[in-house]
Amino acid sequence: MNYNKLLPITINYNKLPTYAIPIVIGTAGKLLITIILFTIITSCTSEHKKTGEAIIQLSYEDDITPSYYEIIEMYKKLAVHYPEAKLLEYGKTDAGKPLHLFVISSDKDFNPVSIRKNNKRIVLINNGIHPGEPCGIDASLQFADDILRNKNGMAKYLKNTVVCIIPVYNVGGCLNRSAWHRTGQTSPKECGYRGNAKNLDLNRDFVKMDTENAKAFATIFRKWKPDVFLDTHTTNGSEHKYTITLIPVQPDYFPKVLSDFFRNKMIPALYEKMAEGDYEMIPYVSYRNRSVKKGIYLDVQTPRFSTGYVSLFNTLGFMTENHVYKNFSDRVKSANNFIRALVEFTSENGEEISKKRKLANQELIRQTEFALDYAVDTNRFDTITYRGYEAEIGISPVTGVERFGFNKNKAFEAEIPFYQYYYPTKIIIKPEMYIIPQAWSEVIDRLKINDIEMFPLSKDTILEVEVYYFVDHENSIRAYNGHHSHRNIKLHPEMQKVQFFEGDYVIPLNQESNKYIVELLEPEGHDSFFRWNFFDPCLESREYFSSYGFEGNAQKYLDKHPEFKAKFEKKKKEDKEFASNHRAQLGYIYYNTEWADERHNRYPVARIIKIDDL
Ligand SMILES: [Zn+2]
Repeated sequence: MNYNKLLPITINYNKLPTYAIPIVIGTAGKLLITIILFTIITSCTSEHKKTGEAIIQLSYEDDITPSYYEIIEMYKKLAVHYPEAKLLEYGKTDAGKPLHLFVISSDKDFNPVSIRKNNKRIVLINNGIHPGEPCGIDASLQFADDILRNKNGMAKYLKNTVVCIIPVYNVGGCLNRSAWHRTGQTSPKECGYRGNAKNLDLNRDFVKMDTENAKAFATIFRKWKPDVFLDTHTTNGSEHKYTITLIPVQPDYFPKVLSDFFRNKMIPALYEKMAEGDYEMIPYVSYRNRSVKKGIYLDVQTPRFSTGYVSLFNTLGFMTENHVYKNFSDRVKSANNFIRALVEFTSENGEEISKKRKLANQELIRQTEFALDYAVDTNRFDTITYRGYEAEIGISPVTGVERFGFNKNKAFEAEIPFYQYYYPTKIIIKPEMYIIPQAWSEVIDRLKINDIEMFPLSKDTILEVEVYYFVDHENSIRAYNGHHSHRNIKLHPEMQKVQFFEGDYVIPLNQESNKYIVELLEPEGHDSFFRWNFFDPCLESREYFSSYGFEGNAQKYLDKHPEFKAKFEKKKKEDKEFASNHRAQLGYIYYNTEWADERHNRYPVARIIKIDDL
């Protein structure tokens, strides 16, 4: 049955008349009062709400998605009509307009702290991160209108669940509306643009936070601490029969107690719920070597992406990827079905979700080893049924030249492998604490936005800490999302006594946010602050020597240190090339004495291994 096709019943439960209780005397009268009271009480509980009228009008059946202003106007309209809904504003996006959050809370409680205290789960839905992929924008509006007017009894999900919707995350991209974006897309008629007001891809910005949008998102995320998260997208790159595909957080990212629940219960239940409706769902079709029949893969989702970021905090995250080659109304309806399935599952399994997340958070506090990188296990896979089209080399009708594509006349159904198991390839032992000099304020600001517990040193002190030296690394030649990020990082750890100052920050690793802290502060983390160039100045030497200017001090040093001088003379005797190279000899003295710049290539964030050092 497709609940989307059911006709709405035109009674608005918010506009029902207030009942007057008649004053009557006698047994029959008491019975009447009891009946009337029972009717009133039951009519007021969320399960017994009547279905109201639709408040907003969407045009996705006509291939039209609303503009930014229309979207916000519709949410305002819903918030005015329903006391159970509120449109909040968080910060300003790069476009100068606020980031909105639409909250649906049946208790009319819009305080996340008391919502959690009252044992309710929070679902956060993010839309329009890529505004050229607007199915989720329309689907969320439809969902909000439907659940608020209790279409098909949906309001019952709100008994133990609060739904938060970011109407449009990429506000600047949504305002840049045109019929000429998204070359592979034929509907809707007009849509927004992928880049934000700063021309950055917001789905690479969740940890580096170059945009005000990302800062506002992190503020929302850490304040509301959602149990469940969804980020809505549209995809091309494959050709098959499914309107909607799914990328869940890689389950292996979670502690086992949550990973098992997520992989074995939640994800299968969502596929089952979708199969009951008009839009069967399959995993996102990511394949290799142009051959989908050899299997599809659940991709690694590093913290730069929404799902990777939310997984650091044990939030059960998903991306829906609607299939671009299907018409817009089906994309919207299937996204709407998924949102409903997600909220329904959360409501039906609320207690279990809370319990597993709590245990997983405790595990994050306890665990000492953290995986910084993963690889897919190609020896282990599940089998799924896939209905697609044969891939083949065809002749392009546009260019007349051969190209890779899919033959829509050759449909097939096959059982194919689905590779979704990963194993860690890089494990790090957490220190007791990190210490970060206050000079690195851009990093400290980001830690604060993410609500990381840290405390400033109360006095200047020298601490024995573990530091990393960068032995080697490479940079991307081309700019990628505003950075020339680092890769192939090689480190050399060593214990050192380092001067720290009052106000430098100590970050204890006894927090539910441990995974975020380790991923972001270990330079080898896939999306660490180091990789994203926040610490580049440490790679430069600010002190050096001149071939002429250093001679005087070099001579003095040799005179004062006979043992070192003997070593130096021995090397000169044994190494002819060295003996004839003035610069190499001065370099030997520079690098092997106190003259060497110990800050050069030293990562400024130190690891405190023993807590009694503090
Ligand atoms: Zn996208």
